[in-house]
Amino acid sequence: MDYDVIIIGAGPGGIFASYELTEKNSDLRIAVFETGNELSKRKCPIDGVKIKTCIGCKNCSIMSGFGGAGAFSDGKYNITNDFGGTLYEYIGKDKAISLMQYVDKINLANGGEGTKLYSTANTTLKKVCMQNKLQLLDASVRHLGTDINYVVLENLYAKLKDRVEFKFLTPVEHIDVLEDGYKVITAGGEYTCSKCIVSVGRSGSKWIEQVCAELDIPTESNRVDLGVRVELPAELFSHLTDELYESKIVYRTEKFEDKVRTFCMNPRGSVVNENTNGIVTVNGHSYEDPAKQTENTNFALLVSKHFSEPFKDSNGYGESIARLSNMLGGGVIVQRFGDLIRGRRTNHKRLANSFVRPTLQAEPGDLSLVLPKRILDGIIEMIYALDKIAPGTANDDTLLYGVEVKFYNMEVKLNERLETRYPGLYMIGDGSGVTHSLSHASASGVFVARDILGVQ
Ligand SMILES: Cc1cc2nc3c(=O)[nH]c(=O)nc-3n(C[C@H](O)[C@H](O)[C@H](O)COP(=O)(O)OP(=O)(O)OC[C@H]3O[C@@H](n4cnc5c(N)ncnc54)[C@H](O)[C@@H]3O)c2cc1C
Repeated sequence: MDYDVIIIGAGPGGIFASYELTEKNSDLRIAVFETGNELSKRKCPIDGVKIKTCIGCKNCSIMSGFGGAGAFSDGKYNITNDFGGTLYEYIGKDKAISLMQYVDKINLANGGEGTKLYSTANTTLKKVCMQNKLQLLDASVRHLGTDINYVVLENLYAKLKDRVEFKFLTPVEHIDVLEDGYKVITAGGEYTCSKCIVSVGRSGSKWIEQVCAELDIPTESNRVDLGVRVELPAELFSHLTDELYESKIVYRTEKFEDKVRTFCMNPRGSVVNENTNGIVTVNGHSYEDPAKQTENTNFALLVSKHFSEPFKDSNGYGESIARLSNMLGGGVIVQRFGDLIRGRRTNHKRLANSFVRPTLQAEPGDLSLVLPKRILDGIIEMIYALDKIAPGTANDDTLLYGVEVKFYNMEVKLNERLETRYPGLYMIGDGSGVTHSLSHASASGVFVARDILGVQ
């Protein structure tokens, strides 16, 4: 065998798997294959001057490379089983929490010390939410911030690069099952290993589907989350964000009884483009450093869409809606809430007159031409509900960017060790469908590393 362990993907799942393996056994021969570049070479071409919007690079620097999709993220590590994935269903709630706490310790030891841990325990905001038909979910959240998150990744890379063979700009094309291990096939060569950890994230969703089909590994897929990113003056949400940083709030709509939830809240942050498989959607992040903060807070409002038989392509549904916004706006569309309610398009003039200054240059337009009525109605209802706990949310100038889509990878059928039906072939992180967050993906990496080492 060329290696004891091959890890595919250098996102949080792959990084923490290799960290744990090398910490506990320095003799192991480990290689990490990654489609993207090393951290210092990850550069998105958008400079705000010559290139203002996403040009659809073949290899997106935001989503791929050392650090994975989380490298330029807000670095919010939510320590909870309430959201962020279903890792606990495989390994148990206590184990999942203790692994997330372990990941937190490693982050602190590698540059994250001094960052704040927020918690919903004992907050009076829970009651205020309940009184207004909103539910605040329980969590502790470590906010590293985009800047410190990057420092932590730099430090982890410095530690790992001499212990692990990194093969950047080397997408894996196929995995072959051997009698006593696996063969990983790339355009430049073939490599064998005893154990293989697949941690390819959301950007690897199509590829992992192909691998599962080739190896006859059962999968299931029926969910996509669709919605908008809301941007408003930071003062309006400061009573929530100062105490909790991120509040995960859920609302059940009166009209359809759909659940709408807040997601990825970024106090004093920026709205950004995200490119998944050539489709431009919206996301957000914020910095710990006050000098880099903005006057706005942003967060997503998402509605989960679960499909039943015979329809199976939930991601295809989400992609089609995102494509509509790309078709109409050339990328992401921005609309004032007041214009949406009045049934008119936001144009450049109305946007220029808005009191809220957008942090992302998006095309002013009409989201009602993009989002299905049921989803848009839910979002509007939730904005009015939030207006009761954070007055001003439903102001005319509140900006809505669309569309935000959370593509869920299909769920790979795994055992309680996160192993496929092939012994020693593990699938973890967002790519497996088990996790949807930094903390859960990282914890799944530590878990399989310990499984391989036999030290659970
Ligand atoms: C802008 C943004 C902000 C976010 N903010 C937060 C946040 O604050 N908190 C939070 O919890 N989550 C956040 N997320 C989500 C979080 O980043 C992911 O949940 C997390 O990165 C998943 O980790 P992962 O290791 O499973 O996958 P990823 O981080 O996606 O890493 C997978 C890696 O595999 C590589 N890869 C894919 N296919 C192949 C292949 N065939 N061969 C080789 N390599 C391959 C990819 O290039 C990628 O680098 C954010 C995401 C984005 C995009």
